[in-house]
Parts: sequence; C-alpha cells; structure tokens
Amino acid sequence: MTATEVKKLQKGGAFLLEETVPDSVFSPEDFSDELKMIGQTTKDFCENEVIPNIPKLEKMEPGLNEELLRKLGDIGLLGIEIPEEYGGTDLPKTAAMLIAEEMAVLGGFSTTYGAHQSIGSLPTVYFGNAAQKEKYLPKLNTAEIIAAYALTEPNAGSDALGGQCKAVLSDDGKYYTLDGTKMWITNAGFADLFTVFARVDGQKEKFSAFLVERGYEGVSTGAEEHKMGIKSSSTRMLILDKVKVPVENLLGEVGQGAKIAFNILNTGRFKLGAGGLGGAKNALAIAAKYSQERKQFGQPIANFGMMQEKLGEMAARIFACESVIYRTAGLIDDAIGDKKDGASKLKCIEEYAVECSMIKVLGSEVLSYVVDEGVQIHGGYGFSAEYAIERAYRDARIMRLYEGTNEINRMLIPSMLIKRAMKGELPLMQAAQGVQQKVMDASLEEQNDGGLLGEELRAVRNLKNVVLMLAGTAAMKFGPKLDAEQELMARIADILMNLYASESAILRTRKLNARGLDTSVMEEMTKLYTHDAVERSAVAGRDAICRMTDNEQEIAVFIGALKRFTRHATVNTITLRRSIAQKVLAVTGYPVEA
Ligand SMILES: Cc1cc2nc3c(=O)[nH]c(=O)nc-3n(C[C@H](O)[C@H](O)[C@H](O)COP(=O)(O)OP(=O)(O)OC[C@H]3O[C@@H](n4cnc5c(N)ncnc54)[C@H](O)[C@@H]3O)c2cc1C
Repeated sequence: MTATEVKKLQKGGAFLLEETVPDSVFSPEDFSDELKMIGQTTKDFCENEVIPNIPKLEKMEPGLNEELLRKLGDIGLLGIEIPEEYGGTDLPKTAAMLIAEEMAVLGGFSTTYGAHQSIGSLPTVYFGNAAQKEKYLPKLNTAEIIAAYALTEPNAGSDALGGQCKAVLSDDGKYYTLDGTKMWITNAGFADLFTVFARVDGQKEKFSAFLVERGYEGVSTGAEEHKMGIKSSSTRMLILDKVKVPVENLLGEVGQGAKIAFNILNTGRFKLGAGGLGGAKNALAIAAKYSQERKQFGQPIANFGMMQEKLGEMAARIFACESVIYRTAGLIDDAIGDKKDGASKLKCIEEYAVECSMIKVLGSEVLSYVVDEGVQIHGGYGFSAEYAIERAYRDARIMRLYEGTNEINRMLIPSMLIKRAMKGELPLMQAAQGVQQKVMDASLEEQNDGGLLGEELRAVRNLKNVVLMLAGTAAMKFGPKLDAEQELMARIADILMNLYASESAILRTRKLNARGLDTSVMEEMTKLYTHDAVERSAVAGRDAICRMTDNEQEIAVFIGALKRFTRHATVNTITLRRSIAQKVLAVTGYPVEA
C-alpha cells in the first residue's frame, strides 16, 4: 500500500486501530518554501513589532493592540482562513498552526490575535450568508473592524449552553431584542463585532448566534478584568441591554447556536495547542540561555545534572507535542484537499475533533510543565517580574482553562471516540472484542518488527491494547452511565494521548531517518518520552481497572494483561536526559530545526 493510499484511509480516531506508515505522517520537515516564508514573516513581525512593545502592551497602552492587528492585516496574516473572494488567502490549516506557534512569544498578544483571527472571525467565515460575508469579511481581513466571540456568561462557563442571554423577535419581524451579560470576552475593550450566543424566546433548543455590532444602542462593556497573566489582552464583560439586532444579523438559523459554538471552539483548539508548543519552545530557549549565564559554585548551573535533567525532559515533551500537532494538521489538510466551501471544510476539521481535543490538552500541559521548570531553573530570579520567564509562567496558566477546560476536553476525548463507534464510523467495539483474546492469552504478544525504535513501536501497539481493553470493559460495565465515570474516562484519555504522542514521535523519527537525516537527538527524545508514557499509562490503567471491578479474579486477569501490555525494555532515562540537554545547550534552545 502506498503512503497516499494510507492517507486516504486515515479517519479521525483511526490512529487507535490502524498502523500508520511513517512516510504518510506530516511533520515540520515537510514544510513547503511558502510555509517557511509565512513562518518567517510571523517571526519577523513578532521580533520587530511585538517584542519591543511588550512593556507598553502589558500596560495596555490604548490603541496598540488594534494598531498591531492592522499591521498584521497589511502583511496578510489576518485573512489566512478567509476565502480569497473576500480578500483573504485561505491557507492550509498547517499555516494557521505555524502562525499560532510563532505568535506565542507573547501570550497576551497571541490571545488578542486568536480572538480576532480565529474564534472572532470564523463564525462569519463558516456560517455567514453571502451578505454577511460581503459586509464583514473584507473589513475583518484588514482589522478595519475587530472581532470577538461572546459565548461565556457569569453562570455558564463549561456548561456553555446553559446561558441565559435572551433574544426576542420583534412583532414586525425586523429585529431581535437581545438582553443579557457575557463574561470574560477577549478583545471586548476595542472589538467592533461580537458573535453573541443567545436563546430565542429563552428556549434552550433555540440557542442561536447573532452578529452584534458595537455601535448598536444598548451594547456596552464592563471594566478590564485584572488578570494573573496575558495582561496585554483585553478581557471584559459584554452587556446587552435591549439591543436591537437586525434579523439580517442572525448567523445561520435559529437553533444552530450549539453547532456554531462547538465547531468554532473545535477549530480554535488545535491552534491553541500550537500556541502552547510555540510558548514552550520560547521558554526552553530562555531557560537554556539563563542556565548557561548563571554561575553558582564557580560554574554555569547548566553543568549540573539536575538542571540538565529538566532541559532534556522539556525538549522531549516539546518534540512529542510538535510531532502530534503537525501530524494532525497534515491529516486535516489532506482531508480538506481543494474543498472551498466552509461546510465541507468544517466537516473535515470535525472529523479530527478527538485529535483536536488531545492537541489542546497536550499543548497546554507541555507549556505548563516547561514554564514551571523554566522558573525553577531561574531560581529566585524566576520569581521576579524583571525576567521574561516570570511572565511566561503567568501567561501559560490560562491555556488549561479556555476553549474548553482540560477536564472538559479529557471527557470529550473518549466520549467522542465512543460516539463515533456507536454511529458505525469507527470499528472500535469490534477491535475491543478482538483484544479480549489477547487479554486472556499471554502468547498473543505484540512483536518488535525490528526497525528503528522498534521496541517503542511495540510498546505503542500494546498501549492501544490497553485502551481497547479498558474502553471495551468500561462500556460493558457502565453502559449509558459511563459519562458519570469521569475519572475513568480521564485516565483513558491520558493513555490515548500518551500513545498518540509517542507514536507520532516514533513515526516522524523513522520517516526522517529513512530519508537519511541525522535523527540521533529525535531518537533519544522519542525513547525517553515513550518510556515515561508507558509508565504513566501503567499507573492510569491500574486505577481504571480497580474502578471497574472489585472481583478479585477479574482484577488479577486485567492487571496481568496490563502488566504484559506495559512491559518494556529498560531505558537509561538519566543518561538520555543528560545527552538531550547537551544538544539543547549547544543551540541554546529546542534542538530540532525543520
Ligand atoms: C482570560 C480569559 C479569556 C476568555 N476569553 C473568552 C472569550 O473570548 N469568549 C468566551 O466566550 N469565553 C472566554 N473565556 C471563558 C472561558 O472559556 C471559561 O472561563 C471556561 O470555559 C471555563 O468556564 P468557567 O470559568 O465558568 O469555569 P467552570 O465551568 O465553572 O469550571 C470550574 C471548574 O469545574 C470544572 N468543571 C466544570 N464542569 C465540569 C464537568 N462537567 N465535569 C468535570 N469538571 C467540570 C472545570 O473543568 C473547572 O476546573 C475566557 C476566560 C478567561 C479567563
């Protein structure tokens, strides 16, 4: 089977059930010259326009965010997902990921950018009618008008559909009157166009989206929130007091609000993960540099084993995360192909909703880990606002909270997989039944096929068996009550992320090695990451088994199978981290160049 044929078969969630050919996996090494240029343009913009302005941005100098957005419009970085007929460039999703990654040097401005370019503009791109697109998209493309997305309410956060904001159609059918309050709205301080979600006639099933202009009478915003981080971004309440919104500004149809809200959040999640990746690479470079400059006991702290251990671990997690993100971006772009209409594109992104949720959790948690260890490497200076790592640490914290908290995304990962299986889109249950035999029969071992990182690939195949064993048993034991087993679902989600990230790193390394590239540091990072991913999965698997049954015989069978499925070759993790750290220090940052 050729790589192209394999690509066509790879549906969302299929990584769990199918073997993937290394050459079919997209990675940063496959970036086209055009893509590299887009990445460089974004990097240059950040170096010339964002970084020198950080002190002013962090103090929210009036007009600066808007000015920078307009400059981004001038160089074509706002319209990357806007169709060409409305002045955009309609680039592949890989480009959107790369831009999000590069933009992450300042958490606050990348939030401003994301709120405008992504969740603010995309509702109109994907759900607007011709007149709405005509009216708003060319102006969003240049930041002549700035966008915001208003879903959350004071009493409706994770339970977004529980919002009370109400819309009532006028007797003459010409306008809706909107009343309510939205909370935590990014860009609210200066946005001109809000996508607002409200219940028509207060009815949940009529949850709908509206394009609300700032100039409409009755629209106002609260004071700026005093936030822990991303201080340069504007976050305010949006207050709607008897706002008359023309019927022409209903987005999509009455009752389509949930579809719009969740699809837009889904498209935002993978870019948010890419932002986490960019932030983590930046923090690693900052920490590596500091470790070389700071001397204690007569030598740079970079010489100390425990400092190297941190740098090595940071790089390995970043590598796995990067491999997952671009593998998935490649899958989405392949699925989109030359489709131009918004509905077909959205369907392709939705196909990979499980992967998008995994990317959101992985990207935000790798970032959290890296900034935390980055502060530790700085010692007391990391606690000082004089140092960039302090801001990076504070800015990172929001990533686990918005676009669906990581708890909500951990629930979504297995439940969306199971839903796909129930709809007949993924033969998950058949595969789970197949694994039962492997659970009972110790002779049905996964084999090491002997290639590069063969032992790691064998370990990943076994982790797939763990997920199938747990998911199959959980579905049988709890049936429709499975959703209430949140801790169990979260553990299945964690094992899925462990295996998807490990497999992505393995396949990428194999692919590049076969191309004749020097992959020695990638091999080290993959070995280290996979080793620990298997260890973490063993603990999660044990917890899950004990929750599913208290029958001692059953526990013994499952734990026996889990032990076999998580058996792996001994790896010298201390030496690996030291070795990776040397490569980090040699380039003062992430040791892989695309
Ligand atoms: C700086 C910032 C910018 C933001 N920008 C925007 C924006 O532009 N537009 C917008 O609409 N919103 C925005 N938000 C809102 C953001 O998306 C919400 O804060 C987020 O969805 C969580 O909602 P909440 O804060 O009400 O927390 P809650 O939903 O109250 O959650 C509190 C805790 O309970 C957990 N929890 C909740 N439900 C469950 C469950 N079913 N199972 C298990 N655990 C659960 C959560 O994971 C969390 O740990 C922003 C928020 C911040 C802080």
